[in-house]
Amino acid sequence: MQANEFPTRRRRIAAALAEKNVDALIVSGAANLRYLTGFTGSNGVLLLSPGTALLVTDPRYQIQAAQETNCQVKVVRGSLYPALMKAAARRKFRRLGFEKDHLRYAVYDQLQAELALGASLEPVGGLVEAHRLVKSATEIELIRRSVETNSAAFAKVMRRAGEGARECDLAAELDYQMRRLGAQGPAFDTIVAVGARSALPHAQPTASAWRRNQLLLIDVGASQDGYASDMTRMAFLGRPGPKVKNLYGAVLEAQSAAISAVRPGVRAEQVDGAARRVLRARNLDQAFVHSTGHGLGLEIHEPPRIGRWDKTPLAAGMVITIEPGIYLEGFGGIRIEDTVVVTHTGASVLTPTSKDLLVL
Ligand code: ZN
Ligand code: ZN
Repeated sequence: MQANEFPTRRRRIAAALAEKNVDALIVSGAANLRYLTGFTGSNGVLLLSPGTALLVTDPRYQIQAAQETNCQVKVVRGSLYPALMKAAARRKFRRLGFEKDHLRYAVYDQLQAELALGASLEPVGGLVEAHRLVKSATEIELIRRSVETNSAAFAKVMRRAGEGARECDLAAELDYQMRRLGAQGPAFDTIVAVGARSALPHAQPTASAWRRNQLLLIDVGASQDGYASDMTRMAFLGRPGPKVKNLYGAVLEAQSAAISAVRPGVRAEQVDGAARRVLRARNLDQAFVHSTGHGLGLEIHEPPRIGRWDKTPLAAGMVITIEPGIYLEGFGGIRIEDTVVVTHTGASVLTPTSKDLLVL
């Protein structure tokens, strides 16, 4: 991450506080905190205003905060909030914004108790998230590396996968390989599901083993230098019959149609509609039980939601997944997912892994 991006991001958010009618913002969401400061510790809070960037953390992170951030750092023992509120009072902030999606009620109570006379706490929703929607070139590069790690781990694991491989072993192997390739860990709980279990869109890996004439669904993503990747691929052990081939073809066509629909100005719901139309034409839309995709970046699920009700117009620099799927109880599920960046003219698929059904 280029160190100079953090002050720029903070300036943008600070400049947007006036229109939210607050003097300062208490940033407590972990991903928002990382976005604005580079801080990766588990306990920190930022007081941000046009003239203030004060990170409060505890002694475990004293050295780390100084290394990772270029804002003012205050280290306190115990709760971070009394020190934060003292700093706010000293600066005479009257209307103090807090992130309503990222502050526990118990902490809110504590803030209220520490509030200076005449000052007020104001809920602010989605401000930093809105700025995170469009990724910088640096962020897109970090996502690309995360995607490459993810795809390389998948290739390594599938070279050795075969009959009798257990879901839990494949999942553990994927996580291990991602770490060896540079990830800090998986971006979410790795999904590996064999046979009829693949009809569970968020299946937890079990001791079930992959048998002949069974589908295998793998949904995996890396978290690398803060940035997520996300991919789903399907494999089949043996010779796939016409039903598997037809269903696979339908999902692939839906996924291609959605990717083709991606370009700046198109609403998220329209991309979802493109995938859904393909499946409806084959009477499979009832089996498509989730959205077509989601934004990703510092978090695995970020706005926009590529779903039926999200009217967000896409813009160049947004990074989204495209992942239609169909799920048939007793038979199995098929999902194909890529990580995609919105470009000035359309879409660029970051995921390098082949989308052919992997037949072993
Ligand atoms: Zn996924
Ligand atoms: Zn996804």
